[in-house]
Amino acid sequence: MKKHNFSAGPCILPQEVLQKASEAILNFNDDDLSLIEISHRSKPFVAVMEKARNLALELLGLENKGYQAIFLHGGASMEFLMVAYNLLNKKAAYLNTGTWSDKAIKEAKEFGEVVEVGSSKDKGYNYIPKGYSIPEDADYFHCTSNNTVAGTQIKSFPETNVPLICDMSSDIFSRQLDFEKFDLIYAGAQKNMGPAGTTLVIIKEEILGKVERHIPSMLNYQVHIKSDSMYNTPSVFAVYVSMLTLQWLKDLGGIPFIEKVNNKKAELLYTEIDRNPLFKGIVAKEDRSNMNATFVLTDESLTEKFDKMCAAAGINGLNGHRSVGGYRASMYNALPLYSVQVLVDVMKALK
Ligand SMILES: *Cc1c(COP(=O)(O)O)cnc(C)c1O
Repeated sequence: MKKHNFSAGPCILPQEVLQKASEAILNFNDDDLSLIEISHRSKPFVAVMEKARNLALELLGLENKGYQAIFLHGGASMEFLMVAYNLLNKKAAYLNTGTWSDKAIKEAKEFGEVVEVGSSKDKGYNYIPKGYSIPEDADYFHCTSNNTVAGTQIKSFPETNVPLICDMSSDIFSRQLDFEKFDLIYAGAQKNMGPAGTTLVIIKEEILGKVERHIPSMLNYQVHIKSDSMYNTPSVFAVYVSMLTLQWLKDLGGIPFIEKVNNKKAELLYTEIDRNPLFKGIVAKEDRSNMNATFVLTDESLTEKFDKMCAAAGINGLNGHRSVGGYRASMYNALPLYSVQVLVDVMKALK
């Protein structure tokens, strides 16, 4: 039987998507060839890429609004540097809410001045800084919507006149937001959309072309947009599976539907964490992530017992990030409510 997969990334994908993906590996499009042995310029694959790009914009409600969706290589980590390469002239503002923001800041510093408008680093990133102000003359403001490692999530985004850039790797397509507020959104596929190997970047085109430096082709958003995300060989398998997952989500009812399910899952687990004296949440309650719930045992001597009970119940991937410890239950879109119920039942049975 399939395990209850709480892995933080690469993570659970819908079973029907895995089924279709495995079929395409053997025989794609009834052409008696594998998806991964045909030209990316062949008609069937060009159609896959187009569909993936369109679905991404459609699900976010960003069609015909001046946005482009492209699938790139290099992971979300590559975007830490591409964002700065393409958009940072003199000064950029960053909110430091976790390991990933910190890495984004490090890369941006190679290209100009970075103003850290707020940081929760001093408290192990266990909350989201609020009440910060963004300099009017910044080239952009960068934040991380969901902090996969610590388990916090930004619930309300700042009103600002400068371009808003967001790393949504671990909560894209999980909740409704006013996506038009954002000028650039990026997400590594492997958290909530597909296998590792591709990164979705959604860009409002008008923000590009404003830096003076020369940008190497592979790092230039305009080059990738101009070539319809086919400047070089795309990660064909990762793009295909992402397309299938986006189609799965659309068929279910899109973000409005999945958000309700995600809220239910998070409520179920956090209610137990708060009720059960043997467990304790790690981060500020108002900033808790609906995607990655982090918690610890109040009595560490129960660790072995709890881990064994989880394993016996078929629970996988519950260990916390090596920098945080404890436990982390990642409840991405494809994780069924039932899996969370199984985890909660194990927590209730622990004595
Ligand atoms: C996982 C993750 C990253 C890094 O992704 P890679 O694809 O491994 O580069 C960046 N940001 C966030 C929020 C993440 O969860």
